[in-house]
Amino acid sequence: MKHYYTIARSTLLEHVPRGHLAAAALLSAGLVILLGTDSNTTQSSTIIQSSNIPGLEIQGTETQAAPIAIPPVETIIQQIAAPAEKEPVDVAPPKPQWKEFTVQNGDNLSVLFKRAGLNDRAIYELFSDAKDAKDLRNIRPGQKMEFLVEDGRLNGLKYVVDELNSLTFDRGTKGFTSKEIALKPDVKYAFRQASIDSSLYMAGKRAGMPSNLTMEMANIFGWDIDFALDIQKGDSFKVMYEEQFLNGKKIGVGKVIAAEFTNGGKTFKAVRYTDKAGNSAYYTPDGRGMHKAFLRTPIEFARISSHFNLARKHPVLHIIRAHKGTDYAAARGTPIRATGNGKVSFAGRKGGYGNTVIIQHGQGIQTLYGHMNAFAKGMRNGARVSQGDVIGYVGSTGLASGPHLHYEFHVNGQVRNPVTVPLPKSIGIEKTELARFNETTRPLIAKLDQFKSSNRLAVANNDTSGN
Ligand SMILES: [Zn+2]
Repeated sequence: MKHYYTIARSTLLEHVPRGHLAAAALLSAGLVILLGTDSNTTQSSTIIQSSNIPGLEIQGTETQAAPIAIPPVETIIQQIAAPAEKEPVDVAPPKPQWKEFTVQNGDNLSVLFKRAGLNDRAIYELFSDAKDAKDLRNIRPGQKMEFLVEDGRLNGLKYVVDELNSLTFDRGTKGFTSKEIALKPDVKYAFRQASIDSSLYMAGKRAGMPSNLTMEMANIFGWDIDFALDIQKGDSFKVMYEEQFLNGKKIGVGKVIAAEFTNGGKTFKAVRYTDKAGNSAYYTPDGRGMHKAFLRTPIEFARISSHFNLARKHPVLHIIRAHKGTDYAAARGTPIRATGNGKVSFAGRKGGYGNTVIIQHGQGIQTLYGHMNAFAKGMRNGARVSQGDVIGYVGSTGLASGPHLHYEFHVNGQVRNPVTVPLPKSIGIEKTELARFNETTRPLIAKLDQFKSSNRLAVANNDTSGN
């Protein structure tokens, strides 16, 4: 149980830097609507499900499945927890009555418990008995909570986190104990392909792709292709991705497994690979990383308010003082992202820099983020961060005339201009892992290639939910 739960969580939390591309896709969409074009987009798409028997091909063709109702997971859990009794009514004790509530906008625990006929004492008991109770602080509108109240006392609570994850609390002789319930979805591969007439967004839409899938694909190729400027009519793509099913019903889209994008006659390919350490990333078929080791900017869509300048007049001190970084003006609270993988070497107050995070990356590189309003959770010396992780929020602590991020890039102890410094090359597959990489990814690329020649293709059910 615990194991599955961890997998599901890490899949959700894992993330690929997004932003520019998302905006590019949406901007393009807006443009299309304005121009009223997009009549000639061609695409085809197929969903294939098959048996586990190699060679036995079962093909289905469909383009856009009608929306399917989300399966009532809570019902399943309830069945597990409380099998139906069949004794005569006059003999059996009254069946415990669970009351279900959907979290509404503005609800908090106190409000929900009151709705269930309970007071804050029950919340206090839960929190003092079960340490998992802190997860209840994360309730969001639309989530479900079920209460078992007997004689005005809370005896059980179920918190349905999402379609796959629930948390239950039961009152025993020694107070509440908690249990995590994680359902593992069946994962199948699906394909989509399209050629672009006006915009990637529209092409994806016509191919029946959810917009977040289109965006994920754009993020994968975003280091090679500028989706705002480079896209031209006749560009095309193919994508093989996971679809998640629970009890035969589709509950969502998982990761892109392999994809191909042809831009201006040049074809780029990418495949997802999870290394021995459990890190997943996208690579070219020969094992080069699709992503650069560093993002150019730590904030999405921010305007540079002050450039790197070693002879600048300081806006607050009004003296000539080197400006050793780049300032990005942004609203207070805007998330700041680590530009590369690394280890936090400083997180705290640092003179005129105010609240500052310094990250030590490989290859003698250090990045610094100043004037933060607040740090992200877990920012302390030695904490590991991945490229794109939120490390803090824009503010104006220290010597700052207004909310902005001050960002510095150091190479071997020398301060460099973050906007122009040559960024280190992408991280590829290590030699020691190349055999494993090839063994894992070649069949996936072959499946994608096969799809190129035919829409009819079978793919065995694949358990890849740990990726
Ligand atoms: Zn600055």
